[in-house]
Amino acid sequence: MEVRVQNVRKEFDRFPALHDVSLDIKSGELIALLGPSGSGKTTLLRLIAGLERPTAGKIFFGQEDASEKSVQERNIGFVFQHYALFRHMTILENVSFGLEVRPRATRPSKAEIRRRALELLDLVQLSGLEKRYPSQLSGGQRQRVALARALAIEPGVLLLDEPFGALDAQVRRELRKWLREIHDRTGHTTVFVTHDQEEALELADRLCVMSQGKIEQVGTPDTVYDQPQSPFVFGFIGESSALPVNIERGDIWLGDRPIGISSPEASGAARLFFRPHDIELVEGDAALSGVVASSRRVGGTRRVELDIGGAARRVEIDLPFDHPAGERSQISFRPKRWKLFPPTDQPPLS
Ligand code: ATP
Repeated sequence: MEVRVQNVRKEFDRFPALHDVSLDIKSGELIALLGPSGSGKTTLLRLIAGLERPTAGKIFFGQEDASEKSVQERNIGFVFQHYALFRHMTILENVSFGLEVRPRATRPSKAEIRRRALELLDLVQLSGLEKRYPSQLSGGQRQRVALARALAIEPGVLLLDEPFGALDAQVRRELRKWLREIHDRTGHTTVFVTHDQEEALELADRLCVMSQGKIEQVGTPDTVYDQPQSPFVFGFIGESSALPVNIERGDIWLGDRPIGISSPEASGAARLFFRPHDIELVEGDAALSGVVASSRRVGGTRRVELDIGGAARRVEIDLPFDHPAGERSQISFRPKRWKLFPPTDQPPLS
């Protein structure tokens, strides 16, 4: 099922939690709503679910305007961070619940409900545990039951709100891979809320990056990572450093020295963004140059914090692991890939 969010605004007591948000979710895709706390991810998810009504704007499910429809009418599968399983019901009963409570006309037979629930428990790799109660399962297993329960009603759209947020890192990583596999097999249109960029980058077909009630950028993980459209996205997805620079006749300067890169179309004050691994070490004056303030190992490389003129001018760069960089040694480099943004939050200059 395709979902279209059209110019949606949501206010709580006049406080705008979402400003004029528009988003097209394609049928069968897994899209992650990603952003810091308070950016409006859960509000957007709840609006899609029908748990909240928009203050303005519309939400379409396929061609149909669903804005005034109830949660049930929208046929939504929902999984929350805190496993909302029924404690007094077995795992099988939990998974069967959504079908059991259907009106008689659309309710499958008892045997059919049982068959489907067992099939779903097999899909989420919990066969054999159907007689247990939620308290007899691990956190990760409970979230798998929650997913099986959400899938049992054959939802048009599956909504997941930080489903792995309460689990430890290892289980989280396993469930992430597993969710992707299940999605590839079942093909449900899925909206996944997370504030964990690693999770979003690994799991999603597309990311919708949010900040302060607005959508900053929507795109594939590669596009959002490689072509961030705002300083916020550059800083929020992946690591980056930013420096205040000046552009004169196309050359980029930091303070009173050119740094060996240029941008013919730009001029005046700007902010230069680059990623720690997108740099090259160089000799000579036309470069960024700084003193090693600290260094730590990140995977197979050494991440070095360079002080290039005061606390506001610290940047991080990656060096080959065996680089003999001690504290206080001087390093010169140039960004290989970078982006210029105006001093205030506006679209990129280059
Ligand atoms: P988190 O990652 O912390 O869950 P989020 O990105 O999901 O954050 P939302 O829960 O959507 O953010 O909240 C967006 C803004 O709307 C926040 O400032 C929040 O305080 C506010 N808000 C959300 N729900 C309500 C409500 N029921 N009443 C009043 N304000 C609300």
